[in-house]
Amino acid sequence: MIKIRHVLGISGGKDSAALAIYIKTKYPSLDLDFYSSDTGKELDETYQLIQNLEIYLGIKINILKGAENSSEDPFDHFLKMYGGYLPGSNSRWCTKKLKLEPFEKYVGTDNVVSYVGIRGDEDREGYISTKKNIQSIFPFRKNIWSEDVIAKALSNQNIENVISFTKNIDFGKYQDKATQILSKRIDTAFTQTQKLNALLDTDIKGFNHLIFEFLKTTDYPLSKETAFPLLDNEDILVRDDIFRILEESGVGVPAYYNKIDFDIKGKIGQYSRSRSGCYFCFYQQKIEWIWLYEQHPELYKKAMEYEKDGYTWAQNESLEELIKPERITQVKEEYIKRMERNSAKNKSPYLIDILDEEEGIGCASCFI
Ligand code: SF4
Repeated sequence: MIKIRHVLGISGGKDSAALAIYIKTKYPSLDLDFYSSDTGKELDETYQLIQNLEIYLGIKINILKGAENSSEDPFDHFLKMYGGYLPGSNSRWCTKKLKLEPFEKYVGTDNVVSYVGIRGDEDREGYISTKKNIQSIFPFRKNIWSEDVIAKALSNQNIENVISFTKNIDFGKYQDKATQILSKRIDTAFTQTQKLNALLDTDIKGFNHLIFEFLKTTDYPLSKETAFPLLDNEDILVRDDIFRILEESGVGVPAYYNKIDFDIKGKIGQYSRSRSGCYFCFYQQKIEWIWLYEQHPELYKKAMEYEKDGYTWAQNESLEELIKPERITQVKEEYIKRMERNSAKNKSPYLIDILDEEEGIGCASCFI
């Protein structure tokens, strides 16, 4: 029998940490491998979180490094290879070299189910490997399956096939309704997303068992498993659940999420960092750069040292320009205004809900 590996990546962010706790606690029978891809440029809080998780869960987290034989940090090694060209949202060589390639090397040719911590309140897809031996599962979402699996299972060509599986699947009182929905063709008036949501609204467990049956007709890693405990999972976890899991377990929320007061012309604002990843990550908002400058000046200085030969982390502004006193004041004032606008709409007690408005942007491998 082919062995399937179940792997869970820890990015250093809150969601993947909570996922590790959730899956390990709820599904102790799953034989999980944990890994984290280290760029060499993470915040200390990230390394602390990894340690806390290892202690709390009694696990070993495998640390993956791009350029493992290099004497330099992985990031610096590849920066040299790229001629000092700093990565940016349009040229994310860092994610490829420091996250994806080490992960694919770690997996090799094994059949792998990879658990990804995208939450039930997020509207984004995670890393979908182009490698056929890697299948992603999203336990926090109502729809635990990846987009490619859903597209195949619900495609018009597969309607008859999938309906034939429903005979052995229990949709409870929605048995006929599920068949009706499955028999409807996808077109501009009834999209794949609508079909998916209509099916999930009938019976989540029934839907999951249906997809599992479908997978048996494919080469996906889960087609080789005789059972999969997450088929019966109906939990949907959102941001508050993530904080609760981290706090209740004692692992704790990574310290960089803690809000810190700042005073600007007599007005009090609060800032923190909204995500994990390299301390100089170009996805940071201006206020997060200021947070780095004021809370970790030594790291800000190091980030500045990377800006040379005309390359800067942010477009249109160097880190040197950003910390001119009048510019810091301007960024903080604008940020306070934005917080006031957003907090009127948003009653969450967590600052991160406001800071995180762009959380969906960026790199799933680095920030989940
Ligand atoms: S955290 Fe940012 S800079 Fe670091 S690897 Fe990820 S995308 Fe690149």
